[in-house]
Amino acid sequence: MGSLRKLVIKTRRLSLIPRNPIVEEINNNGCVKVMSSRSALLEFVPETNKENLDVELPIFDPSKGTVVDLAVVGSGLAVSQLVSQAAMDLLDCLYTTWSGAVVYINEQKKKHLDRPYGRVNRKQLKSKMLLKCISNGVKFHQAEVIKFIHEESKSMLICNDGATVQATVLLDATGFSRCLVQYEKPYNPGYQVAYGILAEVEEHPFDVEKMVFMDWRDSHFANNDIKERMETRLRHLGIKVTSIEEDEHCVIPMGGPLPVLPQRVVGIGGTAGMVYPLTGYMVARTLAAAPIVADAIVRCLDPGRNLVGNKLSAEVWRDLWSIERRRQREFFCFGMDIFL
Ligand SMILES: Cc1cc2nc3c(=O)[nH]c(=O)nc-3n(C[C@H](O)[C@H](O)[C@H](O)COP(=O)(O)OP(=O)(O)OC[C@H]3O[C@@H](n4cnc5c(N)ncnc54)[C@H](O)[C@@H]3O)c2cc1C
Repeated sequence: MGSLRKLVIKTRRLSLIPRNPIVEEINNNGCVKVMSSRSALLEFVPETNKENLDVELPIFDPSKGTVVDLAVVGSGLAVSQLVSQAAMDLLDCLYTTWSGAVVYINEQKKKHLDRPYGRVNRKQLKSKMLLKCISNGVKFHQAEVIKFIHEESKSMLICNDGATVQATVLLDATGFSRCLVQYEKPYNPGYQVAYGILAEVEEHPFDVEKMVFMDWRDSHFANNDIKERMETRLRHLGIKVTSIEEDEHCVIPMGGPLPVLPQRVVGIGGTAGMVYPLTGYMVARTLAAAPIVADAIVRCLDPGRNLVGNKLSAEVWRDLWSIERRRQREFFCFGMDIFL
């Protein structure tokens, strides 16, 4: 607890529609990140500055008509994890780590979580994964997929630039657009709405060794506006912001139904129901699942196994969503239903 510190504070809420604040979260390191809205405080928020990565992508040439082993649609978080594959040392992609976390249940009670947490350096993580993809021979094509057609042993992706990409396995990594993967039930997940800032503050009351994962203490709140709540919380905790480095808004669909299991198109990340229903987190789960999916695809593509089409993808889905995993997810969804 010193002077002039940076904090990451994030105020979150869960709801069936993107309203009704319920959950608040604060993360701290040598800094504070806060989530809130329109106010004098937020005049500190700097203009968004999009940074380009210093990575040259090898381009795929669809005019050659090559049938590739695997075509992945989407280039978000999940796919970089999948195609970079292999156990990677990602510790240098973390800005900060905490050996444990704390959850404030109410004004009297708190709970310690005895597991480590880290704050990801997005640029470093993405660059590292892209470089790994490139060294693994991945080629890129920039276009929107508008249609797909399955034949027995291959599938075709039709893109909005007129190109067709042919592949033995199609993997949908289009996040919440869920471009290729089919669902049996209507897609109606709960949402997490959050606003946060990374700010420099005069002082703060947190133990810098522990990440504040959730803070349910809400007696000081008089309204439901998420940004105003962030400001109220800062005032309540006696935190004075001196400057803001960046801010972040998000509306993240939470659990929702699983896709049809199995199906011809394989999925990973948001399309494959891998978001943790209660927290909206997906990074850690996808990092753990990517090698499982990649190994299954490599195993199924072995020419000796002679697997194609639905049989091939069924085996990959089985590895991704084992019975144990599905049971565990049902339990997580039950937890989310209670919160909502
Ligand atoms: C502000 C914010 C903060 C977050 N914080 C956290 C956090 O702290 N921890 C955590 O675990 N999660 C966090 N999340 C959630 C996490 O970012 C998402 O769950 C994750 O990005 C989903 O990854 P994905 O690869 O499945 O999809 P995305 O990252 O959404 O990528 C989908 C890709 O598919 C492409 N695409 C879509 N449709 C098509 C098409 N038809 N043709 C071609 N390409 C297409 C898109 O352009 C995109 O590149 C946060 C989200 C936001 C917005």
